[in-house]
Amino acid sequence: MNILVINCGSSSLKFQLIESNTEAVLGKGLCERIGIDGSRIVYTPAGKDKITIESPMPTHTEAIKLVLDCLTDAENGVIASLAEINAVGHRVVHGGEKFASSVLVNDEVIAAIEECADLAPLHNPANLIGIRVCMELMPGVPEVAVFDTAFHQTMPEKAFLYGLPYEAYTEDKIRRYGFHGTSHSYVSKRVASFLGKDLADLKTIVCHLGNGSSIAAVNGGKCVDTSMGLTPLAGLMMGTRCGDIDPSILEFYAGKHGWDIHEVTDVLNKKSGVLGVSGVSSDFRDVEEAADAGNVRCQYALEAFKYQVAKIIGSYVAAMNGVDAIVFTAGVGENSATTRQGVCDYLGYLGITIDAEANGKRGEEIVISTADSKVKVLVIPTNEELMIARDTLALATK
Ligand code: AMP
Repeated sequence: MNILVINCGSSSLKFQLIESNTEAVLGKGLCERIGIDGSRIVYTPAGKDKITIESPMPTHTEAIKLVLDCLTDAENGVIASLAEINAVGHRVVHGGEKFASSVLVNDEVIAAIEECADLAPLHNPANLIGIRVCMELMPGVPEVAVFDTAFHQTMPEKAFLYGLPYEAYTEDKIRRYGFHGTSHSYVSKRVASFLGKDLADLKTIVCHLGNGSSIAAVNGGKCVDTSMGLTPLAGLMMGTRCGDIDPSILEFYAGKHGWDIHEVTDVLNKKSGVLGVSGVSSDFRDVEEAADAGNVRCQYALEAFKYQVAKIIGSYVAAMNGVDAIVFTAGVGENSATTRQGVCDYLGYLGITIDAEANGKRGEEIVISTADSKVKVLVIPTNEELMIARDTLALATK
């Protein structure tokens, strides 16, 4: 079966066409600047070079049409017609408490995703447009929604409740939900099979460190705690997001500058984190380079990030009363050896030691701790698209 995986952001759309038997990626790409001047699609058919096409995409409808045109193109397409797309899997950011697993899309599911839109106003509406446009262009093809929040629905009350009036939870749905669930789920399963262990016997801490970062404590395959919260602004400081801060900062900081709530929230989302502290960039590569050249604010930003990762890991060791494996994934987690080493330098009390040569490798599943390390430390490249394709296959053929 050929499965089209669609990940609609507010102004972007990522896609992959995956053949389910071999799990090979037939074609993939990205539409950028949807609804903004200068929109373009970057498309890579398997085994060929990247193709960039500048084309107006006022909405996601034009973007999806362009994706389908690329995939079926006479010269660079990878399928002859849309009839060769057997199912579509959509990443949906927020499933609230309604969805603890992926689901086949129907009218009821669409209504429930709409209901969760106030929890993810930038993402859920874009995800829904993707679903509706695919239904229109590929009628009768099964569509599956895969939620970023679903994997974290196993968290107990003590982990997801905030210290707020209980009605904030029951009436206003304010609780910790957690995100990057598809990645945390994929990586924690891969760890078990890579180590040849039963998932049910493993206590794993997954560090998804990218532009957005979150950590999850996974006990016996189930998420028991995670660092993001009601929204993806919580937890670690990230590329541009502040992560956990004293809630009183909002009123204090807004008061100092005469900002309204939206202006101060904008600063916390877009001008904070590694970018805010370093003043250089949200991209760890730029910040690492500047730190190496002696930029002190970049050094502070990187050290604060590593320190925060290590503190959350420590708290999850307490939450699970132990840990068997700590895993790094996503852009920074997979590529930055210095970040991994720096985080693990804080974890000597767990008996962790890192093998510098293994830690220097890239792009493969690998154990980077030494043979005598008390806790295994690994790098597992994440693959959210593959996880979405697998869930879509399972539901579409049920
Ligand atoms: P993601 O959000 O998972 O796509 O991760 C994107 C982030 O990964 C970028 O913003 C970079 O900061 C980071 N990244 C990618 N490659 C490297 C690298 N070689 N060294 C350090 N950071 C990297």
